[in-house]
Amino acid sequence: MHELSLVRSIVQTCSEYAGGAPVRRITLEVGALSCVMAEALQFCFAAVSDGTPLAGAELEILRRPGYSRCRDCGADIELQSLLDVCACGSANMSPPQGGDQLRIQSMEIEEAL
Ligand SMILES: [Zn+2]
Repeated sequence: MHELSLVRSIVQTCSEYAGGAPVRRITLEVGALSCVMAEALQFCFAAVSDGTPLAGAELEILRRPGYSRCRDCGADIELQSLLDVCACGSANMSPPQGGDQLRIQSMEIEEAL
C-alpha cells in the first residue's frame, strides 16, 4: 500500500512548511494514471495526520488527466485511465503524457489571531 508512504511524506512536508501552525486544508494534484487511489489517500491521511498540525485538515484531491493522441484519427485524447480508448473506437494511441503526477498544489494555514 504505497499510498501510506506517500501520505506520510505529504504530512511531513506540510508540517515542516506550516512551522507548527494548524493546517486547515491541503490540495493535492493526483494524476489519473498514477495508480494512486484517492480514497486510500483520504483514509491514510486521517490516520497519519492525527497528532500533527494537519489533524482535522481537509484533504482536497484534484484528479489530473493524462494526454494521448489517436494514431488512427489523430484526435487528442484526455485519459482518465490507461484503459481509455479514442472516441473513434481505436485503442491505437501514442504513449500517454502526464497524468502521473502527485504533488501538493496548495495548503491553507490557520492564521494566528
Ligand atoms: Zn481516434
